[in-house]
Amino acid sequence: MTDRNRLRIAVQKSGRLCEGSMELLKAIGVKLSIRDRLLIAHATNLPIDLLRVRDDDIPGLVMDGVVDLGFIGENELEEKMLERQAQGKQFQYKTLERLEFGGCRLSLAVPNEMDYQNVQSLQGKKVATTYPFLLERFFREQNVDANAVMLNGSVEVAPRAGLADAICDLVSTGATLEANGLVEKDVIFRSKAVLIQRGGDMPASKQQLIDKLLTRINGVMQARESKYIMLHAPKDKIEQVKQLLPGAENPTLLPLAGNETSVAVHVVSTETLFWETMEKLKALGCSSILVLPIEKMLG
Ligand code: ATP
Ligand code: MG
Repeated sequence: MTDRNRLRIAVQKSGRLCEGSMELLKAIGVKLSIRDRLLIAHATNLPIDLLRVRDDDIPGLVMDGVVDLGFIGENELEEKMLERQAQGKQFQYKTLERLEFGGCRLSLAVPNEMDYQNVQSLQGKKVATTYPFLLERFFREQNVDANAVMLNGSVEVAPRAGLADAICDLVSTGATLEANGLVEKDVIFRSKAVLIQRGGDMPASKQQLIDKLLTRINGVMQARESKYIMLHAPKDKIEQVKQLLPGAENPTLLPLAGNETSVAVHVVSTETLFWETMEKLKALGCSSILVLPIEKMLG
């Protein structure tokens, strides 16, 4: 059973978005007791319930207001939005955050032997896809009259099976395409995982919790991009050192025992430090240059 006062979050039960979503929830301090078979998992330290479902169901659950938040790929979200638009159903939602996982592209791919100049070459052809609405929108924009053939699985074997002339499918490395004698030609949509919120009123207590989770998510994302840098620098080179360190306006300077000419510099940098920069620091006379990962950040 679930309690309507608890925040409901939909996540993919298993698949490519599962690990990223669960890792992020863990990183922002949501403690879960997950039993593998169960649809619902309760957080033990916050009023949050997880609904573990197939990713196809997540946009609809959010748009129907059945759950408050959902982790979903933009490809699936946009497809469902276009489908609902075409059916005259409601498709309200709010994107809270674009996340750093689930990256992929929806691409047109054709058999190696096909003479493909540009998307016009698909005029009058059949294209197999799991995303007919996104594909048809692309064809409309490109003024191409081609047919999208809906397939829920095995899209990549459709041309060989004689079901279609080409395909439009999700790609990350391209290995699956290659194994099936297909070549990627045009990217029609670039996707990442996003966190979305349902439309409609949100009780104040839930909204406060959502805001708190979002602040923490931002903290985690910012921390992943940032580094803690420590080094010893000659006192008379501090200005040049600051110039070399990205996003390091106010470094901490600490005295070094028994060394009058150098100081220790500690700084949080908003970017990774490249080898080239480290070599330049060394050339300035810096030593003991350390770059450390940051786990969490706030403020
Ligand atoms: P479910 O059983 O939940 O319906 P699924 O088989 O539909 O799972 P997955 O293959 O787990 O879905 O992919 C889920 C999402 O992960 C995709 O919709 C997409 O947003 C993202 N993704 C990232 N990389 C890839 C990839 N290489 N191929 C497919 N999807 C990817
Ligand atoms: Mg799915």
